Amino acid sequence: MSRSGAELYAGVVVEAPLSEIFHYRVPERLAGRIRPGDRAEIPFARRRTRGVVVSLSPVAPIDPALIKELLDISPEEERIPEDILELSRWVAAYYHCGWGMALAAAIPAGVKHGRRERLARRVELASDPDLIEAGAAELGRRAPKQAAALLELLAWFRGHPGAVLPADCPDLGKAASAEILRQLAKKGLIRLLDAEAAWEDPFPAGEGGEGSSAAAEPVLTAEQTAALAEMAPHVGNGEFRSFLLHGVTGSGKTEVYLRLIALALAAGKSALVLVPEISLTPQAASRFRRRFGEIAVLHSHLGDGERAEHWRRLRSGGVRVAVGARSAVFAPLRNLGVVVVDEEHERTYKQDNDPRYHARDVALMRARLAGALAVLGSATPSLESWVNADSGKHRLLRLTSRPGGARRPGVEVVDIRREWVETGRLALVSRRLERALAGCLERREQAIIFLNRRGFHTSVRCAACGEAVMCGNCDVAMTHHRRAGLLRCGCCGSERGVPESCPACGAASLRFFGAGTERAEDALAGLFPRARLLRMDSDSMRARGAHQSSLAAFARGEYDVLLGTQMVAKGLDFPNVTLVGVLMADAALELSDFRSAERTFQLVAQVIGRAGRAGKAGLAVVQAFQPGHPAVAAAAAQDYAAFVAGELSGRGRLGYPPGRRLARVVIQGGREEAARDAAEAAGRAVRAAMPGGCRLLGPAPCEIERLQGVFRRHMLLFAPDNRILAAWLAGADLRPGLDRGARLILDIDPVSML
Ligand code: ADP
Ligand code: ZN
Repeated sequence: MSRSGAELYAGVVVEAPLSEIFHYRVPERLAGRIRPGDRAEIPFARRRTRGVVVSLSPVAPIDPALIKELLDISPEEERIPEDILELSRWVAAYYHCGWGMALAAAIPAGVKHGRRERLARRVELASDPDLIEAGAAELGRRAPKQAAALLELLAWFRGHPGAVLPADCPDLGKAASAEILRQLAKKGLIRLLDAEAAWEDPFPAGEGGEGSSAAAEPVLTAEQTAALAEMAPHVGNGEFRSFLLHGVTGSGKTEVYLRLIALALAAGKSALVLVPEISLTPQAASRFRRRFGEIAVLHSHLGDGERAEHWRRLRSGGVRVAVGARSAVFAPLRNLGVVVVDEEHERTYKQDNDPRYHARDVALMRARLAGALAVLGSATPSLESWVNADSGKHRLLRLTSRPGGARRPGVEVVDIRREWVETGRLALVSRRLERALAGCLERREQAIIFLNRRGFHTSVRCAACGEAVMCGNCDVAMTHHRRAGLLRCGCCGSERGVPESCPACGAASLRFFGAGTERAEDALAGLFPRARLLRMDSDSMRARGAHQSSLAAFARGEYDVLLGTQMVAKGLDFPNVTLVGVLMADAALELSDFRSAERTFQLVAQVIGRAGRAGKAGLAVVQAFQPGHPAVAAAAAQDYAAFVAGELSGRGRLGYPPGRRLARVVIQGGREEAARDAAEAAGRAVRAAMPGGCRLLGPAPCEIERLQGVFRRHMLLFAPDNRILAAWLAGADLRPGLDRGARLILDIDPVSML
């Protein structure tokens, strides 16, 4: 009990999926230094737990006799900055997820658990690899884990002579554990250098497209200059402004970001750059590092301790540039001046578990709270951002050409149906593409071949009863992987052998349908036996770091053809690639998702943009069953405006976003009746609360009705605007029926509709 009489009460949000604020008395010894944002230790349901102080008041909000005392607060350097606190509150309100849940997403685990770890920066072998190897044998008996790590390191250095290995390079797998590296360093087997070079570019200078001159600033093109001139006055003036930078692939958007960041730094401000995880390659990160020296690169392979260390450095202002994927939107940069969202249309910005936030939209709110400039960049902006630019919310800036005279690729479209008729066979590689590939290989240039389907064949179907072989857990046809000799579920990853006969009817008449990347690999190998093929998809790239090291090998010219799924469509800049082939541009159009045309357009347009980046003439051959489909035709013509105009009017007619706001409610349960009953009950509640001008679809089974053994139903709530949608959800009690074995997921602005 305080003797001075001046009581202080703290409102605390628990870092858990709870929306309530709990109140505690602040003990006198803490009263002088406690602030909102402090992380507090509190008694909670007879345990000690952690929460974040969100308010302080001299007035007890409830009967003071019922209020318990707060136990302790974390050191000041772990205090959540005020704007992050505010941002998390907005996330909670907008995504209906509870403030504690939003805070849990905003605070890295390593900070939550108070883990401290110095960043190990670079790894070097302490002496000759052979000597080290002898050391590893010695070590093997006493410390097998360290020995294994050491062998991995040795293998890496032998494969990359002369290269510098960042300690957090995902290539390292287990060896990346900071503790193991420290032990090895203590034994004098390796050296850990505390230089500026963590996550250094493993691409040899001059071959990764970016080359050794990356730090040098190119002379801006007229378009870049104009775009920068529009934005520059708004850097560091404390007022929120947002821009949509619509620039064709390779038009120099990144260079514009770099200049903006330089302006922000010069004005004493900091900068946040969001990129989709898939483009967060060392190649991309090093471009920022070379320009700005020490930056925080927040990728998904960081250990908790490393992430926490980045968090502290950003929070203290010691580091002022953060480049990262989705969750970096909460990076505690101080004095934020510029927020960049590159490839803003990417669906990976949407988190697919709670809190289901969209990092682009959170980034805009963050910039607004900080009075910073936000720039969303894309060659193929999302319709959402396009509409916002159209209505004046964002200012639209354009980059229509490539610097250095690099020409946009020529595009030829091949009608697969006609090819079929003319050749009498359904080939994966058309005659036109075959010819182009032959020429490309002859000139010793490289090609990228894109097919958005994994596996050998898409599915295995019974010719007698017509059934496809389905996953046992999911309502999905399994994919045949011939190399592995098995069927795999693309949703849950479960595997089974290829059955002799149809599991449904027993007939011995199973047939293989469709075409995936494995089959394309065989087709290409058959046509060009001497070409060096690299296949890249989530099956072949399962190993940690495989993605980066494969790209590096392709950049070094160790392969002629890079074949893959969407992994090959983005973020790559290889000057020697002069041919792009799209095997089946319309492969994803049948998906029952209202964004499938938009996604098809984006992917095809992006992959086409990979051809001919460095002044060499590029060619893209686009094969499609429906070459006339607006998404395919517009992508081939690289005509964004045409696609958007058609697509927007179609969406408007159907009452879909971006014209209307959408929320998706998924109800799932282990038993089918439980899921159905809960969905019906929730459906009645939602319908009863529906405001005028809104529309409800469902409840109905999801496209994937059973996923990992769980039955799923969903409904779609359409509202004219966000406020009405929020009021609708607030007025509907979604809980009835849920306690009986069903779970409810609320997804605002959903991206996945399956
Ligand atoms: P985007 O981000 O739009 O795909 P980049 O910024 O990656 O484009 O630029 C593509 C290539 O052009 C890069 O290799 C980059 O270094 C180079 N580049 C960018 N701006 C200029 C310029 N003004 N002059 C010469 N080269 C440039
Ligand atoms: Zn499955």
